[in-house]
Amino acid sequence: MSTYPDLHLYIDGQFRKTTATLPVVNPANEQVIGDLPIADQRDLDDALEAAGRGFRVWSRTSPRDRSDIILKAARLLRERMNDVAFSITCEHGKPYRQGQLEVVRGSEFFEWDAGECQRLYGRAIPGAPGLRHTVLRQPIGTVAAFAPWNFPMSQPARKVAGALAAGCSVILKAAEETPAGALHIARAFHDAGLPAGVLNLVFGTPSEISSYLIPQDQIRLVAFTGSTVVGRQLTGLASDHMTPVLMELGGHAPVIVCDDVDPEEVGGICASRKYRNAGQVCTSPTRFYVGETQFETFAQSFVASADAIVVGDGLNEKTQMGPVANERRLAAMSELVEDAVSNGAELRTGGHRIGNKGYFFEPTVLANVPDKARIMSEEPFGPIAIINPVSSLEEGIAQANRLPFGLAAYGFTHSAANVEQLVDGVETGNLSINTLEASLPETPFGGVKSSGYGREGGEEGLHHYTVVKNVSHKIA
Ligand code: NAD
Repeated sequence: MSTYPDLHLYIDGQFRKTTATLPVVNPANEQVIGDLPIADQRDLDDALEAAGRGFRVWSRTSPRDRSDIILKAARLLRERMNDVAFSITCEHGKPYRQGQLEVVRGSEFFEWDAGECQRLYGRAIPGAPGLRHTVLRQPIGTVAAFAPWNFPMSQPARKVAGALAAGCSVILKAAEETPAGALHIARAFHDAGLPAGVLNLVFGTPSEISSYLIPQDQIRLVAFTGSTVVGRQLTGLASDHMTPVLMELGGHAPVIVCDDVDPEEVGGICASRKYRNAGQVCTSPTRFYVGETQFETFAQSFVASADAIVVGDGLNEKTQMGPVANERRLAAMSELVEDAVSNGAELRTGGHRIGNKGYFFEPTVLANVPDKARIMSEEPFGPIAIINPVSSLEEGIAQANRLPFGLAAYGFTHSAANVEQLVDGVETGNLSINTLEASLPETPFGGVKSSGYGREGGEEGLHHYTVVKNVSHKIA
């Protein structure tokens, strides 16, 4: 039987307690399940010093040896999958099975980057006789990484994987509401033999930690996943110090359903994806733009699937959707629904909190939502779908591009011509056709417009964690 872990910071290869703590709350029953130590300035200074030493050791460790340690940590995480999934369900609320899948995905991020680090090729540029130019990719330095609460293990995994594979050291601030996912990663690397100081894990007041770490000369990259508002603040701070950033920010993913698909089948597929992780996914399909002739059948099928979803405690085997992760999301859901309805939207199902203990919210469908409703421009980040009719593919694409976001977008069609139009027309970092899968370890993931800057995963992912050095060598 798993238990929720005793929480610590991890600095310079040591698990550390502090006197100041924050409570960690289980969103399914609002009970306090842990006391999270929070870092003060001394802890952050220790982490910086350790990460400086860690960088000197790790950047000179061969890619093959780095890869071995990363793969060993990934193996340990897979072996500990049930314990990690239990922690994730307790602190975040998602169904245990989804927690297990998250651990698999997080481990895959490590496995992919462990392979990629052995292929961080440079190139040779022809020069005049006796002159050679060699382009190298070298690790950028110490990374300040900030991971959010929606995937407590796989979000931090993605950043730690990229940084460690490239040869960087990291100070990771994971989410205070869901700390155990990141702590399991630190334990796995500790047990896998990662040298002290290469990975450091801290928690605290997010704005205090970022405003202390980012201006330090030693920090050479800021990697953040979270809201566009916070991403902008951190980018501003980093730019004052000429520090590059990797920003994975908000989305508001459109789904364009063309009228050559079976609306009943696609409606069901879309609903089952929408409510995964209670909709708290930056790529969550949210604005469904459906051809007028298919609209009603699609909406009815979607609503029937939404109504069939079993909502409950994630530790209950039958549960398909857990609570939203915190009280802020619960309040946000109610406000967005009320605002949409008062602006003329139809509430087709859901729209309310379930019970009065735990942060449960009904799988919700709004239809015919006018653009002036807040939810048409604010990412709901919760279990609310919007279904609106469109008269043409062109109108669907125009609606998709209406917002300043461009992270993930989806299309359903069997027509090659429609696919071409979607590929050329939709402003997004990731476009998926006839599937709602948007991000895999082997594919580059990231946004355009206000959805961020840079890519994680794929061949591109490690590039952000490196700097290019050109060496011109005159051979005597
Ligand atoms: P928020 O904007 O306050 O926080 C989002 C994340 O950023 C949290 O993990 C938080 O700890 C961190 N953060 C906040 N201020 C920070 C700072 N000054 N320095 C460093 N880190 C900081 O909002 P929230 O209520 O936690 O989440 C609400 C919104 O955030 C959602 O609606 C969604 O748009 C966005 N979000 C996006 C993702 C994603 O995967 N892109 C994940 C979580 C939240």
